[in-house]
Amino acid sequence: MELGNAIEQTKCELVLLYGKLRRFCLTTLAPRRTRSRMLRRQGKCRQCASCCKFIFRCPLLDENNLCKIYHSRFRPLVCRRFPIDQRDVEDVYLNYGRKCGYSFVETKNRRRRFH
Ligand code: SF4
Repeated sequence: MELGNAIEQTKCELVLLYGKLRRFCLTTLAPRRTRSRMLRRQGKCRQCASCCKFIFRCPLLDENNLCKIYHSRFRPLVCRRFPIDQRDVEDVYLNYGRKCGYSFVETKNRRRRFH
């Protein structure tokens, strides 16, 4: 039982780590692609800070879970762009079992991958 939990936890952390790397690469190396994905985004941020606690808690969160540099020009691009696509929304659910305030309009290409 303990081993099973540890394996599940490790799998979850690997998915979240992959998501972090994917977002970093997209925002820094493919900004146009990132923006085009974000065009399908709908909804709004509920300021739950779930995305600020993937794998580790961001040290820039204050005691009320608010970003200390939210309005600063030093806020990382990867934070400004979150969520880029549905995978990011699914990462929030995977880690916290709660929904991000954003969702994405499905495209034919994405649907095709799952059917
Ligand atoms: S998880 Fe979604 S709703 Fe919560 S703070 Fe991040 S972007 Fe906003």
